[in-house]
Order: sequence, then structure tokens, then C-alpha cells
Amino acid sequence: MYSPQNMPLEHYLNSILAQRKADGLYRTRQTHQGQQSPSLQIDGKTYLSFCSNDYLGLAAYPEIIRALSNSADMHGVGSGAAHLVNGHNSAHHALEQALAEYTKRPRALLFSTGYMANMGVLSGLLGRDDAIFMDKLNHASLVDGALLARSKLLRYPHGDMEVLEQLLKTTPARHRLIVTDGVFSMDGTLAPLPELVEIARRHKVWLMVDDAHGLGVLGHHGRGCLEHFQLDEQDVPILMGTLGKAFGVFGAFVAGSDSLIETLIQTARSYIYTTALPPVLAEATRTSLQLADKETWRREKLRALVSQFRAGLQALDLPLTGSPLTPIQPLILGTAQRATQLSEALYTRGILVTAIRPPTVPQGTARLRITLSAAHDPGQVDTLLYHLKECL
Ligand SMILES: *Cc1c(COP(=O)(O)O)cnc(C)c1O
Repeated sequence: MYSPQNMPLEHYLNSILAQRKADGLYRTRQTHQGQQSPSLQIDGKTYLSFCSNDYLGLAAYPEIIRALSNSADMHGVGSGAAHLVNGHNSAHHALEQALAEYTKRPRALLFSTGYMANMGVLSGLLGRDDAIFMDKLNHASLVDGALLARSKLLRYPHGDMEVLEQLLKTTPARHRLIVTDGVFSMDGTLAPLPELVEIARRHKVWLMVDDAHGLGVLGHHGRGCLEHFQLDEQDVPILMGTLGKAFGVFGAFVAGSDSLIETLIQTARSYIYTTALPPVLAEATRTSLQLADKETWRREKLRALVSQFRAGLQALDLPLTGSPLTPIQPLILGTAQRATQLSEALYTRGILVTAIRPPTVPQGTARLRITLSAAHDPGQVDTLLYHLKECL
């Protein structure tokens, strides 16, 4: 006999899976062979892909592959330990210095992933008596970071500065922090950073930006949404960025003052209690950072592809969302079923764009999250537009 609360594990798991399938929310993985690129090999067929975050086309760029393999003999593979034990290698250190320079901040701290960086910053700086204010469309890792911090979590509607101000006025707390995505990951919209900076100043609250999708892409040198809006460390004291998207490698960082970084080294548990990432990845990222900085043609090409795609959507009478400045160009379809059907129809035509469904995006806003990359060419964008037209 089993009590209802303790049904057999397999029954419980199968009931969850059946429900997911019934709701059209079942997630599966697509296995591809070979490098990340606009042409992906799946089961011996070539697909034209529009859903990676490899915005600059650096994920398999020969110079970066060489940087990685050339440093393997010197640094080995595993880092062997956490940074605070004996895993902190000169390659990590050099990358932290390069990231500080790139973001024009005194220091940077390397984390193994963006998810862990956000968990670490929020729980390392804030606690039970504090309040965290965030945009409703912020990335899941920021929500989870706030939960881990056990702070009061207040979410305002996307970009709604009036509601944010109202919440700030009515929520006392020991410390208060506003945190926002710089570029919203599923929508491609930009946060209203100049307003947020002004509001944070006026209410004397701290401000953090997660620029996972702005870094490498926005600003002349790809320094992200802060370069785009001409803001600096005084305006946004806590900047978080990831290294697995536009920079094409893996990992993440937080950049800011010496005291910020020293504090995180003491308190960020997702920094302290985890193995340092392989030093060869840090070496690869250093090369990638140099390319992202210097090779402005990648951003120019990307912007031209985005304009071409948006003009094509308009010609098809399809709704333009997102921003002309970012490579995230979602096509919002409503129900999970509609998004999945369109994704499957495109797949049979050799186009890969995965459907994004709740809970990743709000109910009723399931979508194709179409992303462009400097590795695409204009002909490929035309091919996507042609098949969208045929399928819709
Ligand atoms: C991808 C992403 C993260 C997580 O970064 P990972 O390095 O992939 O763990 C955090 N924040 C935002 C806004 C992201 O898009």
C-alpha cells in the first residue's frame, strides 16, 4: 500500500511526463554532429540553423580553436580544484584582467557559468532583510538567485518604470537592488538603462545589469548595452556578462570595483564551492575577446542581416518585435502548439528554429526565437524568409 503522497517514483515521473506531453510542453534535445555553425548536421542531413547565441560566429572560429589547443600542453585540461584552493591558474588571471580592461572596470571575477554568476552575486550580496527588484522578463537565473538570497522579490511588468518606482516607494528593506537583463533574452528588447540609472540614483538603490546578450553585440567595440547607452561603472556598479554567447566559448564574469570583487570572493557560494573552469577555456576566451573588440565588421554584418530580416518580415506582413539593434528576432505565435507546429514545418524544410514555450516565456506568448549570427549570409536569411512565408 502506498499513501497518495508517496506514490512509486516511476508512477510519479510518468505522470509528470504525460502531463507535459498533453500540454504541448514536452522538451526534447536535438543531437547535432560537429561544430556550432549556421549549417548543422543532424542525422546525416544539413539544416540551416537560426537559434544559437553564437552571434558573432566565434564558437568554432579557427583562431580560437588554435588558442585552445595551443594552450593545452601548457595548462593541461582540468583546473583540478576551486579557485580558492589551488585551481586559480595564470590563464584565469589573465582573462580576468582582460575582462576588466574590456569593460573598463577595475576588476572582474570569472564564474563557471552565467547561471552560477547570478546565483552567486545575488545570494552573496543580499539576504533575508533585503529586497530585489526585477523586470518580469529577466532571465530565470536572476529569479533563482533572488530565491537563493531569500530576499523579498518584487517584479515589475516588462520595462514599466512607473510600477518600479511605485514598488520602490512602498518597499522598505535593509538593502535594495534593481537587477535587469541588458538585452532581454527571449525578446531582444533593450532595458531602459538610462531611466533605470536615474531611478536607482534617486532612490539610492544598487543597480546590476546582466548583459549576456548585449556583450559582443552592442556598441562599436561590443562592450554591450553600457557602451550603447554610454554608461559607466558609476552608473551601473555591478555588471555581469557571459562568455558562451557572442564570445563563443564558455563561462561568465562579474565586473566592478575592487571591493565588489573581493566581497564576492568571500561570499559567493557558487564561486567558492565549485571547480574552476579549465584554463584552456580562459585562453580561448582571451583570444575571442580580442577578436570581438577589434573585428567590428562582425557587428556591422550582423546589423545588416538583422535589417534585411526585419524588412523581409515587414514585407510578409508579419509583426516586428524586439529591437533592430539585436540579433534576437522573435516571432510570437501564441499557443505552444502553434509554435511547435511552425518549428516542425520548418524542420521538414531543412530549417532549424526551436520553439520557445512556457514557462521560459509567459503563457500565450510561445514563439520561434529566431536569432541571427555574423556567420550567416544574406542568402540564408532569404531562405528563412521564403520558408516562413510558405509555412505561415
Ligand atoms: C544565458 C543567460 C544566462 C546564463 O548564462 P550561462 O553561461 O549560459 O549559464 C544568464 N543571464 C541571461 C540573461 C542569459 O541569457
